Amino acid sequence: METKKKDIRALTKEQLRNFFVECGDKAFRGNQVYEWLWQKSAHTFDAMTNVSKETRQMLEEHFVINHIRVDQMQRSSDGTIKNAVRLHDGLVVESVLIPTETRTTACVSSQVGCSLDCRFCATARMKRMRNLNPDEIYDQVVAIDNESRLYFDRPLSNIVFMGMGEPLMNYNNVLKAIDMITSPEGLGMSPKRITVSTSGVPKMIKKMADEEVKFGLAVSLHSAIDEVRTSIMPFNATFSLADLREALEYWYGKTKSRITYEYVVWEGINDTQEAVDALVKFCRFAPSKVNLIEYNPIDDGEFQQASSAAVDMYQRTLEKNGITVTVRRSRGKDIDAACGQLANKA
Ligand code: SF4
Repeated sequence: METKKKDIRALTKEQLRNFFVECGDKAFRGNQVYEWLWQKSAHTFDAMTNVSKETRQMLEEHFVINHIRVDQMQRSSDGTIKNAVRLHDGLVVESVLIPTETRTTACVSSQVGCSLDCRFCATARMKRMRNLNPDEIYDQVVAIDNESRLYFDRPLSNIVFMGMGEPLMNYNNVLKAIDMITSPEGLGMSPKRITVSTSGVPKMIKKMADEEVKFGLAVSLHSAIDEVRTSIMPFNATFSLADLREALEYWYGKTKSRITYEYVVWEGINDTQEAVDALVKFCRFAPSKVNLIEYNPIDDGEFQQASSAAVDMYQRTLEKNGITVTVRRSRGKDIDAACGQLANKA
């Protein structure tokens, strides 16, 4: 049920310290509570055992802890886990744990639904309902880290913002969440293990570059020809490839960090030599890596995975031109956990 009390995790550490001082307590109490909220992921004030009962009651009167709840967990035959995550207001997002031999990756959501309209994406069919708060993003990571320890006997190693939503359309909250994930007061993960994947919002890519962020950037490109890209990702009519490229050049100039392109090859859409030549040309300005991703059809069959001959052509041409390329097999298809399949069907 919706409540008028404030979500305590919307407060910074400084604000929490000030709150205690205003209440006649010591600022240090704020540090203790902050540690419970983030590092120890306490879901209730009662769990804060080194805080007095009176203080816990006082916190209860003023605040709530809006934690997420994993409503349903599905496990794929390949080990992939998909969580249906219920938010405090009843809305649901999904996050995915992808295990390989050497790493465990969390794919997390940044919005409920999405305001963009990629035609091949299941999430696009839900309208954007709201942005996730930093703590809601953080909690998805904590839940997956716990699952990784429980089922694979190791902590989470990597995070990609590639679940529901466009992370750069929820920029401030995504960056705050990453701050907490990387902070020693949160999960203490290295930013080098985090990748923000965007469909390409030029202004925000430049903003990230200006802020000298330390995490990686991936761009869902899928075509380097404006006409084709606009037909499958209609927002490309507003954020054209020329603007995207200019922003990426700016990003590389500031960060010197290699750019990853996510790319699906579809039959009859971008499975031509002309399409791969355009991609090579687009990649030239900075060290790049292209992930060729296997496509997971979403019910109506409008988009079909291209032949392996077409994918081979991409791989050969990219390699010949000195561009790093990986062919990524899809994971978790049997539970609709693969890229572009997240849409609360469970
Ligand atoms: S692919 Fe990403 S940006 Fe495009 S509609 Fe789906 S969730 Fe949004």
